[in-house]
Amino acid sequence: MPLYETQAIKIYNSLSGEKETFTPITEGNVGMYVCGPTVYSNVHLGNVRTFMSFDIIFRYFQHLEYKVRYVRNITDVGHIVDDVDEGEDKIAKKARLEQLEPMEVVQRYTVDFHDILSAFNFLPPSIEPTATGHIIEQIEIIKTIIANGIGYEANGSVYFDVVKFNETNNYGKLSGRNIEDMLANTRDLDGQSDKRNPQDFALWKKAEPQHIMRWPSPWSDGFPGWHLECTAMSTKYLGNHFDIHGGGMDLKFPHHECEIAQNEACTGQTPVNYWMHANMLTLNGKKMAKSTGNNILPREILTGENTILSKAFSAAVARFFMLQAHYRSILDFSDDAIVAAEKGYKRLMEAMSALATLSAGKTSSLAIAEWKQSCYDAMNDDFNTPILIAHLFEGVRFINLLKDGKETLNAADLETLKQTMNAFIYDVLGLEDEKVSDSKNDKLEGTISLLIEMRKQARENKNFALSDQIRDQLLALGIQLKDGKEGTTFSI
Ligand code: AMP
Ligand code: ZN
Repeated sequence: MPLYETQAIKIYNSLSGEKETFTPITEGNVGMYVCGPTVYSNVHLGNVRTFMSFDIIFRYFQHLEYKVRYVRNITDVGHIVDDVDEGEDKIAKKARLEQLEPMEVVQRYTVDFHDILSAFNFLPPSIEPTATGHIIEQIEIIKTIIANGIGYEANGSVYFDVVKFNETNNYGKLSGRNIEDMLANTRDLDGQSDKRNPQDFALWKKAEPQHIMRWPSPWSDGFPGWHLECTAMSTKYLGNHFDIHGGGMDLKFPHHECEIAQNEACTGQTPVNYWMHANMLTLNGKKMAKSTGNNILPREILTGENTILSKAFSAAVARFFMLQAHYRSILDFSDDAIVAAEKGYKRLMEAMSALATLSAGKTSSLAIAEWKQSCYDAMNDDFNTPILIAHLFEGVRFINLLKDGKETLNAADLETLKQTMNAFIYDVLGLEDEKVSDSKNDKLEGTISLLIEMRKQARENKNFALSDQIRDQLLALGIQLKDGKEGTTFSI
């Protein structure tokens, strides 16, 4: 029997404002779409936090033996500066400033994004589609929305008619906004725009002559609107109706509200059962953002090269720091907080080393089965990682009592304790054991030292063929030996 049959997850659904029991559309399967980065600059630690929230959710579903299709896109066109419709595309602007091709900008920051996520031990999504790779799909959706009377063309651009849509649907249901209030609170367009109403949003924009990122369409040579890409890519890979859509809290409006509207205008059905929004990482009490410069880069955590930081921290410690807060709470970054997290993380890992050496007794004096279920209960309650971590520290307390001989566990219970700690720490929370990588390095260094010693002996025996072979073959592997006064050293 798969684990998910015994563990019922409750998810806070932003659409209803309530925690709801998760029931997948297809039993045993989860379809999840998460808005990915706009690749015009390095991801900051705030972006990493949002993606980490969904990495944990992905990991937990997989741990429960669901088959998960996790789609996370790359936004490589269409995201306009300040998230509005009039202005420059973020990627085109960066390309202009740095005198690069837009696709060079995209490539550079996509690679950076992947490097960072792998350094922080993220699992790759099942599909990672790009907006520029789905222009045809986006054009098809626009055609349908126009045919359904909700989209209109003006001077080569196409807009979504929010007021018309709202006659039959509810624009604002996700963000809790009301169209009358929105219209009352915005200035008239004064003929400045092709839009019928200020709330209308772009589905297609005609490109200015100097705009490089352009594709042919029935309306003009241009590019798609930002909201449209996520509608196109989510439905292409997950269907018109899927389980979970996620992103940062700041995407709820207008981005996700517009996605719902596009889907409903196109297919007549609401696209998503559970909308999930991760809260912001702040620095000095303000949202970390690329545009304001109020941010820390993930790499700076690893090197300590930022005046905010007293030292460098491992990726696992940064992960642990972030997971000590629930994904729907704001988390403020500070040096003190990450230093405290490091102490906690070390205590956890020391206990894991001790756990490996414990041996079983005849009887059990600790309630391990109940404790194990409390770990699941924490995650089942809207992926509550801070409560889970509190239970893992209860596990640490058990380990220390067992180590000191104050309590005992029989073989089955000891095995349950080991499996549960391992599963939640490494598989679900994705916390890598620093010692594991250290010990891998130790093994490599030991092996190279051994080869250096053998090469020395070969030379002493005048077996130069062998000594050269050792040097050359190590070099072929990227390991360079340097002979000096103090002996031979190496660099990798
Ligand atoms: P962007 O590349 O700006 O489209 O953002 C990528 C993701 O990071 C989105 O889901 C944003 O909501 C999220 N995000 C942006 N700033 C923060 C922050 N300070 N804390 C947490 N998530 C953020
Ligand atoms: Zn999106």
